[in-house]
Amino acid sequence: MPGYPKPPFEPQRQPVPGSQSKMQPYPDCGETSYKGSGRLANKIALITGADSGIGRAVAIAFAREGADVAISYLNEHEDAQETAHWVEEAGRQCLLLPGDLADKTHCAAIVNKTLEQFGRIDVLVNNAAFQMTHETLEEISDDEWVKTFDINITAIFRICKAALPSMAAGSSIINTSSVNSDMPKPTLLAYATTKGAIANFTAGLAQMLGERGIRVNSVAPGPIWTPLIVSTMPEDEIKEFGAKTPLGRPGQPVEVAPIYVLLASDEGSYISGSRYAVTGGKPIL
Ligand code: NAD
Ligand code: MG
Repeated sequence: MPGYPKPPFEPQRQPVPGSQSKMQPYPDCGETSYKGSGRLANKIALITGADSGIGRAVAIAFAREGADVAISYLNEHEDAQETAHWVEEAGRQCLLLPGDLADKTHCAAIVNKTLEQFGRIDVLVNNAAFQMTHETLEEISDDEWVKTFDINITAIFRICKAALPSMAAGSSIINTSSVNSDMPKPTLLAYATTKGAIANFTAGLAQMLGERGIRVNSVAPGPIWTPLIVSTMPEDEIKEFGAKTPLGRPGQPVEVAPIYVLLASDEGSYISGSRYAVTGGKPIL
């Protein structure tokens, strides 16, 4: 697609979890570009990590396709308000659910609050994640290893367990994995290991839930221009982010959203247990 930014990018580095409003160039989450066509009419979606980046793009796309959305995020209130603005502008409701998914009780709380507001969950998107760059294994603290697993994979188990009793046949679970699930970047050791676990969990759960008519899939994005990147990667890698893909640039969050729409929609009714690559041309295993 002509027009999307290519590297080199301006030097920039933010503290975790990063603020989308401070990124240069500003990521495209479809705020002024995504066009809906009623494919998720009156569905209810819970999306984690949806104040910014891929999650925001999914929230905006889902709302324009006719869904109400509940969005969980750590503490980026300003970014979350911006997502809510676009959801409401599409004529849909947006429930904001800040808090730490490393906390077991919070995982159950986001499901319960979504059910109090909307009564059921048709689409669950597990998209929140933490990563940090480290050059050596010794550099990774025990606490950071456990925290990465708590946020990236254990929270998915807990949220699925809390949500499933309220998900009817025809519902869909979509987990955000990564190209790192099968081609681990060594400097993201803990993160990449959790992404492998997410892909595996997805394939197993899809088989377990088939008889209940609930579909489970994962998405494996390549380099996507989001706050996660500018808050966790070294500046020299940020400058050249996405340059090594065949398309020669990072993807924008809005370019990842359409696959989530398909997987959430009734048109995707025979798609389960799959892993979808959105990598700008780089093959995955
Ligand atoms: P992002 O920073 O916009 O989203 C990550 C979200 O996770 C944040 O919004 C944050 O609020 C949430 N989060 C982090 N820690 C949390 C915690 N303790 N409790 C609750 N929420 C927490 O970045 P993104 O790149 O859009 O990330 C979305 C997903 O895409 C992640 O699963 C990420 O691993 C995956 N992904 C991203 C890329 C990429 O290049 N950006 C590539 C492959 C996969
Ligand atoms: Mg954010």
